[in-house]
Amino acid sequence: MTPKGVVIHCSASRYGSIELIDRWHAARGFRRLGNPDGPLHVGYHYLITNGRLMSSATYEKQFDGVIYRGRLEHERGAHALGCNDWIGVCLVGKSGRFTPSQYAALWGLCGAMVVRYALVADQVIGHCETGHERAKTDGKTCPELDMGEAREAIYAVAACIRARMMSQEQEPIGGPFAVPEV
Ligand SMILES: [Zn+2]
Repeated sequence: MTPKGVVIHCSASRYGSIELIDRWHAARGFRRLGNPDGPLHVGYHYLITNGRLMSSATYEKQFDGVIYRGRLEHERGAHALGCNDWIGVCLVGKSGRFTPSQYAALWGLCGAMVVRYALVADQVIGHCETGHERAKTDGKTCPELDMGEAREAIYAVAACIRARMMSQEQEPIGGPFAVPEV
């Protein structure tokens, strides 16, 4: 499938690793089809860790803001009712508490996907914006991010990536910036 967009989630836990979330999703009955590489159950396509992998007591800087692959981008996910043909990105964290490294990783990852799939703003949404009530738990909304600000940051990164791609392209003589001959 070609992904229709990106849905951002939070784990609603203070800690988590790709292995741990794979176990949580196995317990919920999620299962990837075929014989995929990597974790067999995780429903997200990407997980961004906060430096606390197995408990909230231990912080390890080298695991803060690290992007882990769950499913492949073109593989169906299991993360949002009605939006499993969208790429699911999950930030580890609870109550809107994420680290600066996680934000940087999220903006970069999503900015790159915006460029790759030519996504417009309403194709980059939070779980709570999918329109399904189940996205709301305990009166809180996943991913507990200001999605307006998030989109602004993501689209700023996408603009930088596009500008860089343009400047790296070798324009042949007579390219779009050449002065037309009269
Ligand atoms: Zn969610």
